Amino acid sequence: MDMRRSRVIATALLLGLAGAAMPLVAVSWLSWHVALGKEHARLEEVAGLMLRRTERTFDDAKLALDSLSYPPMPPCSAQHIARMRVIAFNTPSVSEVGYFDGNVLRCTSWGDGVRTVNKAPIDYVTSQGLEVASHVRPQFGMGRQAMALYYHAYSVLIDPDRLIDILSDGSVSMSVSTRQGVIVDTGDAASAAARLLEPDAEGTGLTDSVVYATASDADFKAIASEPRTVLAKTMRDQQLLFLPIGALAALLIIGGVAWLSRRRLSPLGELKAAVRAREFVVHYQPIVALDSGLCVGAEALVRWRRPDGTMVRPDLFIPLAEQSGLIQPITDQVIERVVDEMGALLRMDRNIHIAVNLSAADIETGRVLDVIATSLTGSEILASQISLEATERGFMDIDAAQETLTKARARGHAVSIDDFGTGYSSLQYLEGLPVDCLKIDKSFIDTIGRNTVKSPVTGHIIDLAKTLGLSTVAEGVETQEQVEYLRGHGVDFAQGWYFAKALPPAEFLSYCRKSRTSRFGASSGAGAAIVAA
Ligand code: C2E
Ligand code: CA
Ligand code: CA
Repeated sequence: MDMRRSRVIATALLLGLAGAAMPLVAVSWLSWHVALGKEHARLEEVAGLMLRRTERTFDDAKLALDSLSYPPMPPCSAQHIARMRVIAFNTPSVSEVGYFDGNVLRCTSWGDGVRTVNKAPIDYVTSQGLEVASHVRPQFGMGRQAMALYYHAYSVLIDPDRLIDILSDGSVSMSVSTRQGVIVDTGDAASAAARLLEPDAEGTGLTDSVVYATASDADFKAIASEPRTVLAKTMRDQQLLFLPIGALAALLIIGGVAWLSRRRLSPLGELKAAVRAREFVVHYQPIVALDSGLCVGAEALVRWRRPDGTMVRPDLFIPLAEQSGLIQPITDQVIERVVDEMGALLRMDRNIHIAVNLSAADIETGRVLDVIATSLTGSEILASQISLEATERGFMDIDAAQETLTKARARGHAVSIDDFGTGYSSLQYLEGLPVDCLKIDKSFIDTIGRNTVKSPVTGHIIDLAKTLGLSTVAEGVETQEQVEYLRGHGVDFAQGWYFAKALPPAEFLSYCRKSRTSRFGASSGAGAAIVAA
């Protein structure tokens, strides 16, 4: 497994883990917020109810107190006491009505005072002018606490529990206080818990121990709270609800990551990555003139150098690249490298040329010609030093091919037909095509010296090229015998392992230099130039 594969797999694992964790974290977060929202809404409702009840109770008390003063009656007369009793009876929140002479209670709705009772100390005054003593012990209250509301000469007693007498489950603590923080209700265990809240708590909130909501008006603030443990339970319920969705999302994300990494690990995905990372290099196979043995140039052959250093042969990726359209950027990278690596040699010796292989798409669109032109601009390499090899596969659209090749020659490039003889329509298209050179396919060269059915064809192909006035290159030459045969039949150039395999740029440059100096000696113009390079 190469480096890229392991990196893709490691990244996929990390992404997969993160992807699976994310929805689960999201579920927890969401459950918490939904649970908190629910509890707040519940508590807000309770607090609102308490506040309205408190307002109603005080309003009723005020109405009762207002109706006591008129019409005036002789204080503590039977008539007066009867009215007080009626009003106490008719006002649900009021348990007793009292009449004061100054600070001293004279009589109540129960009758005449039994003992001397003074007004209790006032804790606060409401916006309606009611003076409130929160904790008084009424005469007939059997020890129960009551709230006294004083107004002019009268007082009413109210059971403070009425204020928080709201139906709600036992976990909710309820309490009503004045805006100044004076507790209005009786202060049982539940409201004691609510009292733990900061006095300035407003709206909804959360403390270390409780969740709360408040509701307030000009006079009062109602607070409903409950322990955070209740919240935790609501949250767990929510989590159970959201968990399947979270699990589904986690699965989807893991699936997506797996799908994406599989795509990246697919041959096409890898080839795409290679194009992006510019992993294509060029090796140069020398082309030799058969008469002089002189190196006249090379064919540029692309190789895919993987990040781990292994070289991939073109037959393994060119078909996929052609299918997928990736061949065009690959051709571009080859052209760039040729200009870059061979520039010095080509400037030094104008007789040297480099052959570049074109794909079917390159030939069909002709786009490659502009890529070459752009690369050559300013390089001082002549267009004639870059020749183009086209196979028959590029001639499917014969008109487009004709146009591209004509244009190529007009710009100064020589055009060769690659793998000549292997196609089926060789002779038909050949005459119409603007071509300079035929590259005789290796399969014909292989027959030389062997007695096979194909053997005679080799001679015919050479003759054909001659009649058409084209130059010839023999491909895949491996033996001395082949060299002699080809030379004897007037083939111009040859390429093959007999001379050299495709070489990395530096090795090709040194091969080329040696070839030319050994033929002409160090004094020859071209050879000397290359030595100097
Ligand atoms: P091709 O254009 O016919 O290239 C010649 C192939 O024959 C090269 O293989 C070369 O190394 C091989 N060869 C040369 N001499 C000998 C020999 O004496 N014996 C044997 N057994 N083989 C020899 P390579 O480099 O593997 O290229 C294979 C094919 O890949 C090329 O065939 C060409 O069709 C394609 N190709 C290579 N480079 C490019 C490129 O830059 N662009 C495009 N579109 N295709 C390319
Ligand atoms: Ca070729
Ligand atoms: Ca070929």
